[in-house]
Amino acid sequence: MNKLIELIEKSKNIAITGHVSPDGDCTGSTLGLYNYITENYKDKQVRVCLEKPSMKFSYMNGFELISENPFMEADLVVSLDASDRERLGSRGVLLDIAKESLCIDHHITNTDFAKFNIVEDFRSSTCELLYTLLEKEKVSVNTAICLYTGIVHDSGVFKYQSTTKETMDIAGELIAKGFDFTKIIDDTYFKKDFNASKLLGLVLTNAKLEFEGKCCYGVLDFDTWSKYISDKKKMDGIIDNLRNINGVEIALFMYETEKNEYKVSLRSINKNVSTIAAALGGGGHIRAAGATVYGNADEILKDKILPMIEKELNG
Ligand code: AMP
Ligand code: MN
Ligand code: MN
Repeated sequence: MNKLIELIEKSKNIAITGHVSPDGDCTGSTLGLYNYITENYKDKQVRVCLEKPSMKFSYMNGFELISENPFMEADLVVSLDASDRERLGSRGVLLDIAKESLCIDHHITNTDFAKFNIVEDFRSSTCELLYTLLEKEKVSVNTAICLYTGIVHDSGVFKYQSTTKETMDIAGELIAKGFDFTKIIDDTYFKKDFNASKLLGLVLTNAKLEFEGKCCYGVLDFDTWSKYISDKKKMDGIIDNLRNINGVEIALFMYETEKNEYKVSLRSINKNVSTIAAALGGGGHIRAAGATVYGNADEILKDKILPMIEKELNG
């Protein structure tokens, strides 16, 4: 019996959490585990404690029960898809409240911050790793829908190098449960609102190339993006368009979240951007990483980020 099942069996009151700004993998793994426990262990009290994810994920069972408030007792907290305690935001306090804590994650920068940690950085997604810890025959279609969503999102629809035969085998077992996977991929990964598409066009129009075309970057200040969209999550995917330009090895996208506070996203073809993100106080994976930085965007770019990118390109 693995640690997850062992801890679930001996806990009555279970809190499930994940990182701030939950993405498909975080939302899918937390709700996937929620469905698995509520369906197979009727005597357990389970809650998902998370920042509200994008409404595009509202088809997942249990979505409307997600609550941001961490201040409730728990025998066990399971953290999914978060590399360190800070990434849990105010939910980090659950690690102090709960009697036991378990972290399940796939980030190379994971700090083993819980009492028990199952971290496999070769996994495409936390959802893939979570599936390997569950009893296959007890995975319902509701759980499968959640886990499949996470695998699709974090593997870039089975395209990133983290995708393995096992990723595909697991995805195959999940779709065998029977659901409309085409709709999930289209609605949550590819489709964009009209205004979000226009904003993408604006970023591409103003994007700059550096280092002989090996780096492409775009920057948006708050006033610019908020004229097009109200929800910053609608900028997900812009970074992939910068990365997909011929010749680009490292892409960078920065948008202002508050006055002099910027969310930075980094993507690469083969270079390591996780060390750049870590040096900026963030983290992530070798080819997809991020951070939050403070100050003037031009200065941060010129003095900090671009020199690190140049070094990585020449390294
Ligand atoms: P993003 O660019 O936000 O899509 O993030 C890419 C990857 O980097 C994801 O796996 C995130 O979990 C990770 N990441 C993003 N921002 C941070 C941060 N501030 N600290 C640690 N990891 C981050
Ligand atoms: Mn994530
Ligand atoms: Mn993930």
